[in-house]
Amino acid sequence: MQAQNLESLKGRLDWLQAIVQFVPVGIFQVDGDDKYTFVNPSWESITGCTLTKALGTNWWEVIHPDDQNLVFNYWAQAEGDGVELSVDCRIITVQKKVRWVRLQTNFLFDDSGKSIFGSLEDITAKKASEAQKEKLITELTEIKKELEVSSRTDPLTNLLNRRGMEEKLISEKDRFERSDKSFSLILCDIDFFKKVNDDYGHDAGDHILTQISRNIEKHSRKQDVICRWGGEEFLLMLPETKLEGAVELAEKLRRQVEEDVQIFKSQKIYITLSLGIACMEKGQQVDECIKKADLRLYAAKEGGRNRSVSCDE
Ligand code: GH3
Ligand code: MG
Ligand code: MG
Repeated sequence: MQAQNLESLKGRLDWLQAIVQFVPVGIFQVDGDDKYTFVNPSWESITGCTLTKALGTNWWEVIHPDDQNLVFNYWAQAEGDGVELSVDCRIITVQKKVRWVRLQTNFLFDDSGKSIFGSLEDITAKKASEAQKEKLITELTEIKKELEVSSRTDPLTNLLNRRGMEEKLISEKDRFERSDKSFSLILCDIDFFKKVNDDYGHDAGDHILTQISRNIEKHSRKQDVICRWGGEEFLLMLPETKLEGAVELAEKLRRQVEEDVQIFKSQKIYITLSLGIACMEKGQQVDECIKKADLRLYAAKEGGRNRSVSCDE
């Protein structure tokens, strides 16, 4: 009976040894003095180190120096708690290549002392594809952000475009309804801009559009929202500003643009603006307020240009 048991145990041992030889995961054994006493062929191929060379060396020699502290800490904690260790770390192969591995160990204590069985799984490719995936996600997120910004930006002047402004107007209207803090709109249009293009060329026109944008930005407040509403038309939204405040800013802008003579390729170009101003009223739709500013802009044009209009005839 005993001989039969022994026979069956030997059979199982042979079977386990065969598995250990062929399993695609590195298997190793370490004694109480931290020295390798066994490594399987997969361990040899992951580390590039042969069984003969590994025997008697310390288990941590293969661990990347930068990861040794981390592994030591895990190792000591797992050993102390008598639990299985599992940690991802880097190793340096005999050929000086860095590889990512998942290191797992079990600590056994018997009459002959401590012995450690462990496995080493090569996760280099998995780590590389994870890193690739993260890089891709970061890049995609950045592209998405840039696209969102550019879909709301006018490429020539770098101001908000009409879409960007429409969103700001919606949120400002919401704020107005909640807080009672009114806002005003200034719609301004460059006078006789077609003639600028005809006389000095389209590039000169583009240059002036950019310069006027900077000029408007420079002379308005930080909280004011400025957009290129159309060709040579700009819409300004002035939060928490009543009509009188908006008239003040409109007149300041008008004077500044009139005074700042534009230079393009050594040619002096005189520019003026016409402006229509309206203040948002309770119960009014934003479109109605824009329409009002537009009618007043038209009145400014009719009245001789280079002027601002803030009331109806
Ligand atoms: P008004 O005083 O009545 O506003 O006259 P205007 O000539 O400014 O108005 P009009 O609507 O007749 O012409 C606008 C011109 O603006 C025509 C168009 O070519 C020019 N324009 C619109 N967008 C651009 C642009 O991006 N670059 C350049 N250079 N010109 C533009
Ligand atoms: Mg014009
Ligand atoms: Mg126009």
